[in-house]
Amino acid sequence: MDRLSDIGTIKEILSKHGFSFSKGLGQNFLINPSVCPRMAEMCGAGENVGVIEIGPGIGVLTNELCKLSPKVVAIEIDKRLIPVLDETLADFDNVKVINDDVMKIDLHKLIEEEFKGMKVVVCANLPYYITSPVIMRLLEENLPIESVTVMVQKEAAQRMCADVGTRQSGAVTVAVNYYSKPEILFNVSAGSFMPAPKVDSAVIRLDVLKTPSVDVKDSKKFFKVVKAAFGQRRKTLSNSLSCGLGMAKSEVNNLLLECNLSSNLRAEQLKLEDFKNIADKI
Ligand code: SAM
Repeated sequence: MDRLSDIGTIKEILSKHGFSFSKGLGQNFLINPSVCPRMAEMCGAGENVGVIEIGPGIGVLTNELCKLSPKVVAIEIDKRLIPVLDETLADFDNVKVINDDVMKIDLHKLIEEEFKGMKVVVCANLPYYITSPVIMRLLEENLPIESVTVMVQKEAAQRMCADVGTRQSGAVTVAVNYYSKPEILFNVSAGSFMPAPKVDSAVIRLDVLKTPSVDVKDSKKFFKVVKAAFGQRRKTLSNSLSCGLGMAKSEVNNLLLECNLSSNLRAEQLKLEDFKNIADKI
């Protein structure tokens, strides 16, 4: 459907279907016409590249993705939006809308069944209440996807795309950098949405790595160390690790010494290799 990101068109469609926004489902729909074409272009949708979209809403971004990709599968939890999407995506025969929860659906099966022989990317304006769980699910499950291009709150974008070992970094920075090469693509103001959220947003792209950026002996242990280190990020490593891992302080200090790390450092000062060394030595 043309002019779908036009606020008048959106209001007309929503009122025709008697739709009211659900805050709980993170429903802030894009009304800025320049954002979706840019996202679709920058996510890598194109010849032989299929797209999974999470939370199509009324289909503004879906429309742009369908113009560029041979196949788009959109997963929408809110069943009230399914008849709306039937109408707004009527011009396309390369789209499938699935009424399901992205946290519950079997994504391996979906990719195998829907995208045979294609490269696959994910592109979405994510509901903010599950930003991190969705991104972590996409990265942790070892899915055959090339990249994840998502709109998230600006602060979350900055955290995820920060350099590991800098003030802005956190456990999520380490996780994202372990599985992918992250990049902020562009910022989007709060006024670009209806209803307008309280904060600005940003579109980020995570290029998924074929193998993790550090070769750890045991990834579960690696993430346990990361979680413990950032669990009390203001404390020194010596304190946060002994508390988070249930180890004696003297034991932690010896471990840090073995890794050539001062026990006075804080989690935000460590590089990926440092976390790896600690985990590998436990
Ligand atoms: N893509 C649309 C846009 O840009 O205007 C809507 C984006 S809105 C921020 C998030 C969408 O995700 C909503 O349509 C909401 O119903 C849907 N959603 C929320 N939780 C979901 C879940 N667990 N699984 C799938 N979709 C979900």
